[in-house]
Amino acid sequence: VGRIKILIIDRVSEKFVKQLADKGFDIDYRPGINREELENIISNYNILVFRSRMKIDRDLIDKGHNLRILARYGIGLDNVDIDYAIKKGIAVVNAPNASTISVAELTLGLIIMIFRNLYNYIEHVKRGLWPKGKFIGRELYGKNLGIVGYGRIGSRVAHYGRALGMNVYVYDIRDVRNDVEKIGGKQVEFDELLEVSDVISLHVPLTPLTYHMINDNVLNKVRDGCVIVNTSRGEVIDTYALIKHLDRLGGVALDVLEQEPPRDEILFQLIHHPKVIVTPHIGAETVEAMDRIADELYNSIMEVIDW
Ligand code: NAD
Repeated sequence: VGRIKILIIDRVSEKFVKQLADKGFDIDYRPGINREELENIISNYNILVFRSRMKIDRDLIDKGHNLRILARYGIGLDNVDIDYAIKKGIAVVNAPNASTISVAELTLGLIIMIFRNLYNYIEHVKRGLWPKGKFIGRELYGKNLGIVGYGRIGSRVAHYGRALGMNVYVYDIRDVRNDVEKIGGKQVEFDELLEVSDVISLHVPLTPLTYHMINDNVLNKVRDGCVIVNTSRGEVIDTYALIKHLDRLGGVALDVLEQEPPRDEILFQLIHHPKVIVTPHIGAETVEAMDRIADELYNSIMEVIDW
């Protein structure tokens, strides 16, 4: 495999680069490379390693005359034209399991952050204030947790919710009734989930069906004081609709936005709203998840090459 050339266009762990280098691959590590440069050199490479920053669209794929593998360092493949790549005989691999625990733990953290107004307290105390009694919180115990998408991450968040004494309601296009019932939860229709949930946590992939799944019509149906948490993909929520409903919602925590990093005024309006907390897409940013991504992706690449 000595002459296989790999281009890495985003930041990855040293271990990952080392593992590939030890196998004798030619590696160019160019984190942050811009689109134009990438288009100019992509035809020299057999494997492209990337995260979510670059759109791996038809145009780019067409320029990659020697591409054999598109390797997403992470999970989400919504920036890749998978069908087109496959049609051109290019394998698409990712690391779907590596970040599950980290994202689920972040989700739980965000839910607690909102329910106890931790961000407000922390900010005030840092400013030298002592606002005891100012932001009275709520317990999670006994509340209804609505999980949208009961896959790897959603099912884990459901477990955490049950451990805290929450009632778990699940909406998924697949029949996951048996699995949900095993942990004492209930699979319901989307409308029922909207009507009963005190917290709605989103864990669906971004697809044409989930694009703006949380829209004005849907937000009209949620309870007053409902908390919305999104650690899936920004485009699952219609930002304009969310802003419109903020007064009625209990709080919103987002690890993902429709535009990352935010540039449009509407997103700054959202970020600065006192009921909203935003983290900069850090779901997988733990030592453990990064390590697992490196191993999982390395193994997937080697599997394709051996095959
Ligand atoms: P998964 O594929 O294991 O689970 C997704 C679930 O959603 C499946 O059960 C599927 O049946 C369900 N689903 C798909 N379309 C649906 C629809 N239209 N309506 C209802 N349910 C639907 O995915 P996962 O690994 O649990 O990841 C979930 C999300 O988390 C993805 O959007 C992924 O991109 C995102 N993610 C975010 C971060 C981060 O850093 N914040 C990191 C990793 C993954």
